[in-house]
Amino acid sequence: MKIRVVNRILEANERIAEQNREVFQRHGNFVVNLMSAPGAGKTTLLLRTIEMLKERVPVGVIEGDITGTTDAERIGALGVPVVQINTDGACHLDANMINSVLSELPLSEIRLLFIENVGNLVCPAEFHVGEDMKAMILSVAEGDDKPLKYPLMFQESEVLVINKIDLLPHLDSDLDSIRSNALRVNPSLRVFAVSCKTGEGLTDWVEYLLKRVEDRKSN
Ligand code: MG
Ligand code: ZN
Repeated sequence: MKIRVVNRILEANERIAEQNREVFQRHGNFVVNLMSAPGAGKTTLLLRTIEMLKERVPVGVIEGDITGTTDAERIGALGVPVVQINTDGACHLDANMINSVLSELPLSEIRLLFIENVGNLVCPAEFHVGEDMKAMILSVAEGDDKPLKYPLMFQESEVLVINKIDLLPHLDSDLDSIRSNALRVNPSLRVFAVSCKTGEGLTDWVEYLLKRVEDRKSN
């Protein structure tokens, strides 16, 4: 019985995600759904990424948080269009929440639209919102067993950004085991190891994103 209810929620979500996808396609938006546990560095990665590519591609952001506008304010300070969703307790974004803010963004002026999901390593992976690409962040401080304990997000994601590699000397976890555990649950995952603090590794991630946006345009 419980399973039927959950399925119905996901089916309804899927229909709205499809409507969002049509809107994004019509406006030529390449949409990235950025997911992670709280504190892995989603907003900081976004800030660094937008600084590096905003002169090359018009960017917009949808910020998802349970409450507050601090992340949207940080993004807005870069001069890119941003809209904040407050989920009022819900631990993930769904397609309907995204749908409800689309009219608040200048979609026809945006090529690359980031959606920063609510910090949570579990259910954001279950709800498609009409994105072209799911990318997740895992900070090295979270430990190298996370891909094995929370496989769904790793399996759903095209990209894994391993963040805070500047902390590695202080930790027991190592980059190779994080990478190999992640690839064990999803062999086709694109993995980037970065430090948003030092900037190491960010260029590869940014170039990958730009390439994906270009590929979308030529389709
Ligand atoms: Mg954030
Ligand atoms: Zn949730």
